[in-house]
Amino acid sequence: MRHIAAKISRMAWTDIIAFDIATLLALALFVLFIWQQGPKASAAEKHESAAAINVKRIAISFDDAPRGPGAFLDGDKRPAMLIAALKKGGVTQAAFFVNPGRVSAAAAEQGQLVNYAAHGHVLANHTATHKPLSQVSAQAFLADIDAAEKWLKPLPGYRPWFRFPRLDEGRRDKVKRDAVRDGLKKRGLRNGYVTADGWDWYLEAQTIRAKKAGRKIDMAALRKLYIETHLESANFSDRLARRLLGRRPVQMLLLHETDLAALYIDDLAAALRRDGWEIVTADSVYNDPMAQISPDPDFADGTLLEMLAWEKQLSGGRWFPRNNIETANKLFASRVLLD
Ligand SMILES: [Zn+2]
Repeated sequence: MRHIAAKISRMAWTDIIAFDIATLLALALFVLFIWQQGPKASAAEKHESAAAINVKRIAISFDDAPRGPGAFLDGDKRPAMLIAALKKGGVTQAAFFVNPGRVSAAAAEQGQLVNYAAHGHVLANHTATHKPLSQVSAQAFLADIDAAEKWLKPLPGYRPWFRFPRLDEGRRDKVKRDAVRDGLKKRGLRNGYVTADGWDWYLEAQTIRAKKAGRKIDMAALRKLYIETHLESANFSDRLARRLLGRRPVQMLLLHETDLAALYIDDLAAALRRDGWEIVTADSVYNDPMAQISPDPDFADGTLLEMLAWEKQLSGGRWFPRNNIETANKLFASRVLLD
C-alpha cells in the first residue's frame, strides 16, 4: 500500500510539475503576446491623451519659396541662412510650400530648394504661380497645381500637400471651393492647412518699405516684435482650438521664406520652447485627427481654426487681433521705427 501510495504521490508530483511547466509556458507565451501587441497601443494612447491635455505642439512652415530680395538679404543668400537658423533653433523638419513658377534659372542651378530637403525639411505645392483661387477659375487653379506638382514630385523631401495661396479657399463661392476640394482628392493631395498665423509677410513688407524710405530701424525691437507676435498667435490658436475642439491639436504655424525668418527663426523657436511649446515635425501635423475636418464656412479663407470658428459662429475672438493693418502699422511705427 505504502508503495502504491508513494507511486501515486510521485505521479501526482510529476503531473503537478508537468502542469506547472505547461502553465508557465502558456503564461510566458501570453506575456510575450501582450508585450508584442499591447504596450505599443497603450503607450501611444497614453501619450496621445497626455499630449492632448497638456502639451502644446507646433510645426513650422514657410510659404512662397523662393521669394525675391528682402530688406536685408538677397534671394540667393537667404536659404542658406534660413537652413542654418533652423538647425540652430533645433527645428528638424519644417515644410516649404513652393511656387515653382518663381524659381529662377540661377536658383534651380544652385539647387536652393533641394538644399532644404537635404537638411531634413520637406517640400510641397503652393501652385506654380501663386494666383489666389478667388481670382481664377477652378480649372485654371487646378492646372496651376498640376504644373507645380510636375516640378515638385521628383524632388527629394516631396510631400503630397497643397497650400492655398493667401489661404484663399474660394471665399463665398462654394461650388468652386468644392470643385477644387474634389480635384485635390483626385490628385491624392491633402490640404496643407495652417492653424496659426501672425502675418509675418506684412511685417516683412513694412520692413522693406521702411528700409527703402531710408527710415531708421531698431533691429532689436524688430526681432522682439517678430518673436512676440508669433508666440502670441500660437497661444491665440491654442486657446481657439480648445474652445472649438476641447483638446490641443498639433498646430501648424504659417511663416514665409523671408529675411525676418532667416534672421530670427532660431530665437522664435527658443521663445516657443520657453513658453512650453514642443516643436514637432511637419509630418506630425497632418496625422492629427483635425486633418480630417473639412469646414463649411460662408467665407472659405484663413486658418483651419478660423474657418471652423466662422462655421460654428463661435462667439468671442475668432481672429488673431494683430492680423489687422491698422494695429500692425501702429505696432511697427511705435516700436520699430526710430525716426
Ligand atoms: Zn503664399
